[in-house]
Amino acid sequence: MHQLIDSHCHWDHPRLQSLQPHLWRSCLDQGVGQLVVPGTQKALFAQQISLCEQHPCWHLALGLHPYFSDQHIPQHLTDLADAIHHYKPIAVGEIGLDFVLDIELEGFSIAHQERWFVAQVQLAQQTKLPLIVHSRKANDRLGQLLRQLKFDQGGIVHGFSGSVQQAEKFIQLGFKIGLGGSLTYERAQAMRRLAQALPLTGIVLETDAPDMPMAGQGKGQPNRPDMLPRVLAVLAELRRESLSEIAMQTVANTLDVLRLK
Ligand SMILES: [Zn+2]
Repeated sequence: MHQLIDSHCHWDHPRLQSLQPHLWRSCLDQGVGQLVVPGTQKALFAQQISLCEQHPCWHLALGLHPYFSDQHIPQHLTDLADAIHHYKPIAVGEIGLDFVLDIELEGFSIAHQERWFVAQVQLAQQTKLPLIVHSRKANDRLGQLLRQLKFDQGGIVHGFSGSVQQAEKFIQLGFKIGLGGSLTYERAQAMRRLAQALPLTGIVLETDAPDMPMAGQGKGQPNRPDMLPRVLAVLAELRRESLSEIAMQTVANTLDVLRLK
């Protein structure tokens, strides 16, 4: 069995918590011994923090997700800064840009999303923390903003979708590329080619549970962190590399970029 880290799991989500304590035991049985738990909105921070305090292998990240851009208010940024000082998360995230959202609406406009993103990148710079980045149809703009801000703390672009060139630019900026359950779909040809083309040193594994169900899961079934070995298996097959080589390198990448021991 290979030891893995799920670098992106919404562990505090009620759909996963309702499967506890069985789910964590199953994670350990499958070799998934650590989880990175990204934040999404201020209203859920307290619950997320107290959950992550229950176990040293559930790693807290805090941030304001673009999905909720219409609900974030300036006070939440102050609250986020306070929570970072107090609870010492391993990263600022999940933050980013999502241009699949209805950007015609004021609460999701590009300008509005970018203000939240930039403010949180600056917070990460002040606190010397890496980022966990959400990007949908926004890779080029995110890269541009990170370069303009001279952000050099690295991080993970999670659930990456885009070209090899875009991924390589993020890697040059000190980021790792998060690959997950979408690889399990045979029809995901572009994603599979990307997974073959990237250097192994640039990849981390994730599930994004309970979102992004894997191939063959019943409709409506939550994705689960104990299914992470399926991502490893597909990657090994696609890249023609051994399971243990990929497991070891992607764990090392995750520990390194998030400065975990
Ligand atoms: Zn997420």
